[in-house]
Amino acid sequence: MRSRFWARERRPVVLAIFFGACAQILAPAFPSTATPFVAPVQYRVWWRVIESCAERSGSFERVSWYSVRHSSDLRVEGEHLIGAWFPSGNRIVLADSLRGYGPLVRHEMLHAILGDDGHPTAFFDVRCGDAVTCGRTCGAAFSDQHVAGATRLDPSDLIIDAGIIPDPPSLSQYDGWVVIGVSVTNPAPVAAVVALAHAAGLSCQWGYRLLSVTTSTRGIVDCAELQDSVLSLRPHETRRVFFDLNLVHPPLSEPFQAESVVLSAQFVDAVRESGTLVIKP
Ligand SMILES: [Zn+2]
Repeated sequence: MRSRFWARERRPVVLAIFFGACAQILAPAFPSTATPFVAPVQYRVWWRVIESCAERSGSFERVSWYSVRHSSDLRVEGEHLIGAWFPSGNRIVLADSLRGYGPLVRHEMLHAILGDDGHPTAFFDVRCGDAVTCGRTCGAAFSDQHVAGATRLDPSDLIIDAGIIPDPPSLSQYDGWVVIGVSVTNPAPVAAVVALAHAAGLSCQWGYRLLSVTTSTRGIVDCAELQDSVLSLRPHETRRVFFDLNLVHPPLSEPFQAESVVLSAQFVDAVRESGTLVIKP
C-alpha cells in the first residue's frame, strides 16, 4: 500500500514582518486599557524556543500578560505598537488580535528573558532573528549587501536539518504543542546565495515531515512558501523556519500516539532525514 501523508495548504511566510512590533521604551506608559490574560500553554513552548536560540534561561512564571483591544491603545511617543515589554513589573502587552502570533509573542519574550528593552543585534538578529518579528529587518544589520561576490550554491550543498522543542516531544506536556525548527546552514566560509525556485510539481519549499514509523495514516507535512527568489547566507550562517504543531490535534492526520516517528527536513528539492523520535505519553 502506498504510504499516505498530508500536506497542509501552502502559506506564505515572511521571515520577519510587522515593523513597529516594539519600540525601545524609554519612558514606559503602561496602557490604562490593558487587561490581564492567562498565557496559553503554547506560550511555554515558544518561551523554550527563545531560551534555546538565545542560550539564556528565564522564568516564564514571572512574566505578566496583558492585551489591548486596539493597537491605538498601545502607543509610545505617538507610534502605534502591536506589542511591548515593560521592564516595570515584567509585563508584556499584546494587541488582542495578535495574541496567537508566535513571532510577535516571542519578540516580547526575548526582551523579558534578556531583561533588556533594546534590540541587541547579537540576539534579535544573529541568534533569534528567524524566531521573532523584526529580527532580521528592524535592525540595519541584515541586508543583501553581502550578496555581491557571493558563491552560488545548490540546495543540496547546504546542511539541512530539523529539530523539535521539547525534545523528546510529549502528548501531555504543553497539551501536545511542539515547535519544529527547520534549519539550513551555509557550510562555506564565504557568503552564498541559493535559488529558491523548485521543480514544478514539488509542493514543499521549506518544511518538514513527521511520519509515524508504523502507521501510514499518521503523518504531517508542513511547508512554508518564501516570498524571495533567492536566499542569501553569510559565511557559515544558519537560517530557520519555525512551525507549530499539536501532536494531539494535528491537522489532516490522525492524532499521534506515544510512538516512534521519523522527522525529516525539506528545503527546495533536498530532503534530509533528521532522525527517529519517540513521542512520550
Ligand atoms: Zn522590541
